[in-house]
Amino acid sequence: MSELAYPYEAPASQALFDRAAAVTPGGVNSPVRAFRAVGGTPRFMVSGTGPYLTDADGREYVDLVCSWGPMILGHAHPEVIAAVQEAVARGTSFGTPAEGEVALAEAMVERVAPLEEVRLVSSGTEATMSAIRLARGFTRRTKVIKFAGCYHGHVDSLLAAAGSGVATFALPDTPGVTGAQASDTIVLPYNDLEAVHAAFAAHTGEIACVITEASPGNMGVVPPLPGFNQGLKDACAANGALFVSDEVMTGFRTSRAGWYGVEGVVPDLMTFGKVMGGGFPAAAFGGRADVMAHLAPAGPVYQAGTLSGNPVATAAGLAQLRLLDDAAYEKVDAVSQQIQGLVTEALSKEGVAHTLQNASNMFSVFFTDRPVTNYEDAKAQESFRFTAFFHSLLANGVYLPPSSFESWFVSTAHDERAVQRIADALPAAARAAAEATA
Ligand code: PLP
Repeated sequence: MSELAYPYEAPASQALFDRAAAVTPGGVNSPVRAFRAVGGTPRFMVSGTGPYLTDADGREYVDLVCSWGPMILGHAHPEVIAAVQEAVARGTSFGTPAEGEVALAEAMVERVAPLEEVRLVSSGTEATMSAIRLARGFTRRTKVIKFAGCYHGHVDSLLAAAGSGVATFALPDTPGVTGAQASDTIVLPYNDLEAVHAAFAAHTGEIACVITEASPGNMGVVPPLPGFNQGLKDACAANGALFVSDEVMTGFRTSRAGWYGVEGVVPDLMTFGKVMGGGFPAAAFGGRADVMAHLAPAGPVYQAGTLSGNPVATAAGLAQLRLLDDAAYEKVDAVSQQIQGLVTEALSKEGVAHTLQNASNMFSVFFTDRPVTNYEDAKAQESFRFTAFFHSLLANGVYLPPSSFESWFVSTAHDERAVQRIADALPAAARAAAEATA
């Protein structure tokens, strides 16, 4: 421990965690925050600026989580903060339509061609849940195909083989989801078009939609093989089902038009969250106008929300989207490439078997020497090496997602100083990974 720049104990975080555990199950409000996969004390953060987070013990970390994706401009970006301050001074919620939600919807529709109409909600979970309901209402069918390792929020019917958080806790299914809900979900291996064709053949006329992460980040980063998403689209079209592309993580992150902008496959419905909310609870689903026309009050499929299109959240999201021009994406992509290069160099130097995978600026490291194309491959990695790697980086002021089944995220604010901090911390972390035992 002598080479660590920071003392490893986190007494202030531990005290807060103890307080939290007395009033909140497991001490956290979202399971992956609890460090269960890696052990130790979750860091309670008190502030964020640019690429840095500061914890309750006053220690600063380079943040490679970016609030699990949203903070693509870094923390407390002055123009986003100004937009929020301006909006909040005018009131926090009206329960009526307001211009901000129109402007955000227009900005989204302008960027993402298949998005003809959009409905705002408050979380990615709500977005996917509503998209599935709409797909069922539109097709008058019940079954949904999803892929093992893809996470679409904690929607009852989509919690089967759901990657990251669930993987971390090794829960194959969660208690509380009924057999009936689960039985309408068909879970297939990711990147396996044959399995999709077989499922359509076995359930003729029953499948409402196929939902997939546009490019998965919830089993670590596992991009679609060439032709996979187009194959899904074609299979749906041939069988009267809808193709639902979940861009909650990739939307407005992997390009100006998200993963759609990278690959160009046109979905029937799409879901969004994270970046479009600028760090506030804002999410959305949308797509084909003829499908969206089935949504209340235009159509019969009910969907609603007290805080949907909240004026502060839409102001933050709109400010963030407006700042995300081509130069911003070039910057995020470049710094992501730079960090990926440093990670692989450090691990290679220590002879640690690893596979680094990316989808534009999203990336993650698997501790295996084989390419990872599905959830089974992801689970075959040596996660105990990640644990050692994670804790060494944490102790040296670099904050990674606390699980080997998560994407890492960077921002336009990750500058040379932040990258240097990572570069300085990597050799010890790679050594720790090399020396780790199961
Ligand atoms: N879909 C994807 C691809 C996600 O990554 C997530 C969250 O990580 C969700 C849906 C759920 O979003 P939320 O956590 O906002 O409910």
